[in-house]
Amino acid sequence: MDAFTQEMKERLLEEKEALVKKLNSEEDNFRNEAMVSSGRGDSSDLASDEGAYRKMEALNAMDARKLKSIENALKRINEGRYGYCLQCGKKIPEGRLRAIPSSVLCIECKSENEKMLK
Ligand SMILES: [Zn+2]
Repeated sequence: MDAFTQEMKERLLEEKEALVKKLNSEEDNFRNEAMVSSGRGDSSDLASDEGAYRKMEALNAMDARKLKSIENALKRINEGRYGYCLQCGKKIPEGRLRAIPSSVLCIECKSENEKMLK
């Protein structure tokens, strides 16, 4: 593994750890809040819990997606294919990887994918 890939791997592992910690603490916070409010048990509280839960789920979904792309990039490092575009196989510029270590697409493919989504 070259020095650059090694450096990106370390950054990905750090990001992953921070994200897992964040997801776990959010879950703890929510559980604590749910425990406190369940003591009162009237329906208006239940409704606001529902809203908080939805908001948390949306946040978690975003973090979970990020976590997934980090894991994807780590998998590609292990397979020796890190830094090459998932779609066209071209080398992704180091500057792009430094900015977003979890990138698995080159800029051309990324913008093409985004165009297709619109
Ligand atoms: Zn590409």
